[in-house]
Amino acid sequence: MLSLRAQKIKPSPTLAIDSRAKAMKASGIDVINFGVGEPDFDTPENIKEAACKAIKDGFTKYTAVGGIDPLKDAIIGKFERDQDLSYKREEIIVSCGAKHSLYNIAQALYGPGDEVIIPSPYWVSYPDQVLLNDATPVFVKTYEADSFMIRPEALEACITKNTKALILNSPSNPTGMLYDRETLAKIAELAVRHDFYVVSDEIYEKLVYDSYSHVSIASLGAEIKDRTLVVNGLSKSHAMTGWRLGYTAGPADVIKAMTNIQSQSTSNPSSITQKAAVEALNGPQDFIGVMLAEFDKRRKFVVAELNTVPGITCVMPNGAFYAFPNTSEVYGSRFGTKEINSSADLALYFLDEARIALVHGDAFGDDNYLRISYATNIEDIRRGLDRIRQAVQNLAR
Ligand code: PMP
Ligand code: GLU
Repeated sequence: MLSLRAQKIKPSPTLAIDSRAKAMKASGIDVINFGVGEPDFDTPENIKEAACKAIKDGFTKYTAVGGIDPLKDAIIGKFERDQDLSYKREEIIVSCGAKHSLYNIAQALYGPGDEVIIPSPYWVSYPDQVLLNDATPVFVKTYEADSFMIRPEALEACITKNTKALILNSPSNPTGMLYDRETLAKIAELAVRHDFYVVSDEIYEKLVYDSYSHVSIASLGAEIKDRTLVVNGLSKSHAMTGWRLGYTAGPADVIKAMTNIQSQSTSNPSSITQKAAVEALNGPQDFIGVMLAEFDKRRKFVVAELNTVPGITCVMPNGAFYAFPNTSEVYGSRFGTKEINSSADLALYFLDEARIALVHGDAFGDDNYLRISYATNIEDIRRGLDRIRQAVQNLAR
């Protein structure tokens, strides 16, 4: 018999869809993968070279559990440069990906009786990580008309004495939206007044378009900084998903607890990846601008095309690399005997009949939407959108 904990959770739907699409591709099926959020760019050469050098130099042994000092210093430098936030080494821990950082936070903070507020739509792993620690996720709906930012009054209405934390994600996966300073200030005021933690997942920080800018809630004053765990990593900013490197900055006591947990589970992140990460953070950053310019072109193309498909509307996202089209008008249609009544029905129809892999909004807590990752080449995006248009036209009302 499996533990109750294991029985409570499901596999990551984003990873499940990605592996299904990759398996179809491997068996010779021409499937277009809009499923996973992973940059299609290669990791920059200087970063790879730093990793090769680490191997050649024999930097292949255990390191300090929470990361080597030069990497912690590079992270501290990044926070100073980008957000004018100052941290000490004991306020930083490096983990095996931002997902692992979030997992360690969950282990360190959440327990039975605790409530963790999660604005929905949310990234898939937040609720399950709360459940894994026998705490309760409390979902607060957000709306397209508010750019999917939580309404402070809706947040306030669900705060109880058991509220342990709020999980924020800006820019957001899956909506691609960003929080503005004003809304963050109101959230910060509530967190300070009611004394709960804010877990601020800033993994898409570098992927922000037009004149928008990313604001970290931790930068809005000493009191909120003391209650915020900022999570970030290199997967998206430096196209390093497979290297597994994430980090957290926050209050020293929580960081220490996370380090203890990590010392009893994974130990340090790969020594080689850590050396590469120092180069990623301290070396030239122009790669990010090149990648962003390309994502920007795709973003505009995808959104414009989606809005020409009858029954689909899509707002322009300000960050990340996801479009989040509203597909609810398509529900109630059919293809032969197949009825399309939900985001899961539609995603499955697209996979079976149009060979398009994407993630149903239900996986993110909102059945009215689908998520399209445009972190794939423009040719596939063009072909994929043609297929989507054709597939929707083939549906009968
Ligand atoms: N947070 C969000 C919102 C994400 O989209 C991802 C992507 N996988 C992660 C965290 C985790 O990233 P990683 O573990 O690759 O650093
Ligand atoms: N964050 C990415 C996504 O949402 C990667 C998959 C995952 O880690 O779940 O697609």
